[in-house]
Amino acid sequence: MHRINDLISYLEQIAPLAYQEDYDNCGLLVGDRQQTCTGVVVCLDVIEEVVNEAISKGYNLIVAHHPFIFKGVKKITGSNYVERIIIKAIQHNIAIYAIHTNLDNIEGGVSGMLAQKLGLIHTEILSPKKGLLSKLVTFVPTTHTEQLLQGIFSTGAGSIGNYSECSYTVTGTGSFKPNEKANPTIGTANQAEQVEENRIEIIYPNHLERQVIRALHAHHPYEVPAYDLIALQNRNTEVGSGFVGELEKSMTKEDFLAFITARLSLTCIRYTTAFQGEIKKVALCGGSGSFLLKNAIASKADVLITADFKYHDFFDAEDRILVCDIGHYESEIHTKELLMNVLTKKFANIAVVLSSIHTNPIGYYKL
Ligand SMILES: [Zn+2]
Repeated sequence: MHRINDLISYLEQIAPLAYQEDYDNCGLLVGDRQQTCTGVVVCLDVIEEVVNEAISKGYNLIVAHHPFIFKGVKKITGSNYVERIIIKAIQHNIAIYAIHTNLDNIEGGVSGMLAQKLGLIHTEILSPKKGLLSKLVTFVPTTHTEQLLQGIFSTGAGSIGNYSECSYTVTGTGSFKPNEKANPTIGTANQAEQVEENRIEIIYPNHLERQVIRALHAHHPYEVPAYDLIALQNRNTEVGSGFVGELEKSMTKEDFLAFITARLSLTCIRYTTAFQGEIKKVALCGGSGSFLLKNAIASKADVLITADFKYHDFFDAEDRILVCDIGHYESEIHTKELLMNVLTKKFANIAVVLSSIHTNPIGYYKL
């Protein structure tokens, strides 16, 4: 038996809420996280039919990519679909959880999965985020260095790319004089002390700060450990928007359009006609990614695949890059599969189903 909170905690370990964009509203939107989870419906968008689907199956958790509550809700009277969903979900004890730009911004997320669908190689995040990393500097007696390091590493601190337990240590001399109220591990009141100490430096993502400081206090032998927390300007290459990678072999524009149509089961593609080159390097972003045009050009990508491109934005691409607008829904539909895989792998005894409701509000008319 698992509480809904167990599933949420796991999802937030993979895609921390701290990685969502400022405008976003990820997390538990409706419901009681302490309930026992009776089953999960995974969808891209929450519409009333999806809530009905959960009710008919007897499942009490909906995990959606898009938050159905974006703006402030001041009255809940059922006057629009958002209010009606809130009412129905609460009446039926259904929790609704959104995992949106925090899932977009991780390596194994929405764009990463799109890159996988196209079989791209040498992939990396197109626009890595700044301001997510800090460094802990602390000073510990050489005799206690290992125990402290292991304690801090156990929080997940010290990871850089494919390397974990990264730290830097240099030996020096620490000095201090305890007063009469102190209870020093080493030394006595009112006597200056000098101890051989290691200066340790460890990088960590900001959202782990509380755990890191707790581990520092738990594993450091001193009554009052000295430490500095330093905000870093480094980009976090594992967190950010879009992906860029390469095709195994270059293709003509026509072959590429046919290739992505088949691989991503597309109905239509809006693309720039000015670009005439071959396609080898591919930038992409699930959902609205027109803001990445400059990054895609700077990365020397031949194409940017995304959605929600406006008419005038197509001009900005000139002939420098092929822009393919494949549709918002189409660029993210594989997210359902991604979430389902993540949840079923970890919670084998909980029923997780993909919603069978087609939630794309846009239709395509064909003659
Ligand atoms: Zn989206």
